[in-house]
Amino acid sequence: MDHVPTPMVYRRMGRSGLQLSAFSLGSWVTFHNQLGAAGVREMLAAAFDRGVNFFDNAEAYADGQSETLMGQAIAELGWDRLDFVVSSKYYWGLGRGSSGGAQPRVNGRDTLNRKYLLQAVEGSLRRLRLDYIDLVYCHRPDPETPIEETVWAMHDIIERGRALYWGTSEWSADEIRAAWEIAERHHLHKPVVEQPQYNLFHRRRVEREYARLYADVGLGLTIWSPLASGLLTGKYRHGVPLGSRGEQAAASFLRDGLTDARRNQAVEMLLHIAVELDCSMAQLALAWAASNPRVSSVILGASTLAQLHENLGALAVLPRLDAGVRARMEEMTAPWADA
Ligand code: NDP
Repeated sequence: MDHVPTPMVYRRMGRSGLQLSAFSLGSWVTFHNQLGAAGVREMLAAAFDRGVNFFDNAEAYADGQSETLMGQAIAELGWDRLDFVVSSKYYWGLGRGSSGGAQPRVNGRDTLNRKYLLQAVEGSLRRLRLDYIDLVYCHRPDPETPIEETVWAMHDIIERGRALYWGTSEWSADEIRAAWEIAERHHLHKPVVEQPQYNLFHRRRVEREYARLYADVGLGLTIWSPLASGLLTGKYRHGVPLGSRGEQAAASFLRDGLTDARRNQAVEMLLHIAVELDCSMAQLALAWAASNPRVSSVILGASTLAQLHENLGALAVLPRLDAGVRARMEEMTAPWADA
């Protein structure tokens, strides 16, 4: 186990000049649902103190409350604006429960149209209490809106000084390339980063589908669910633990995946490697994700400070993860992965 904290490593976000900590912190599920204002502030402060400089958020997380909590904590912590990077993401819109009137919210939900994007960013800026957002993502592709309209809107958001960089999340390689080529043709700000799921059980998109994009367009990656929502900590081997994400109603769609017997057996095998390397299962899985040189930043999720500290211990495991160890890990999980 890691006792003296290993210094943070920083990586360029693809071909851009922006440097992100190799491990960053995200707020999905945890902020507002599991952590209140004091908990969020503590979590941000602890991460920052360990060198984390990137904090991931989205308009839709806790219906805007996640941004509000992050904004409040950042204001209270008084960090220098040069020392942290904040992101948000757009697609689903706010207030899915009710539109507040007789009209369905046709232009503010499940869309990447220009009207929604330009307005949504203003809402995030207010909730985050920031003058600009470092990184804005199109949270999902929108097959109904021309990609050209979305690319122009993202370009204009940057030109207006509301954001610095833009990217995509869970877009196909073809969609990313199409957006990049439109931007190239019209001399617009290009998408520089994608945010895909990447973990030992979810590898195909990052390793195969996007393979040509890294050299062709200089794509960076900030990856999500590196622990497959907790499955890769080993804690679902004997059922759903009390208080875990697998128990939350809001995350019920994850439960079957978390308790999948074959994947949990693979995790059982991985535990032997964790013992060999004298680290926890979570640290092993996180170090594996960070060992892919295409990954600019591994976005951590943590519902407690103890989890955050444990997970940042993956930095010490990273140098021990040679090609032989990685190959064994991939062999153990491959039959139940999408690779
Ligand atoms: P993980 O796969 O790492 O899951 C994190 C969860 O696993 C924690 O909240 C905690 O849940 C549990 N956990 C973490 N560490 C430990 C540990 N050491 N021991 C035991 N349990 C642990 O990441 P997330 O799924 O949270 O994704 C990370 C971030 O990525 C999000 O916060 C968000 O910012 C981003 N994201 C982006 C998406 C997108 O579409 N672009 C989609 C999803 C996430 P608990 O304690 O409650 O069991």
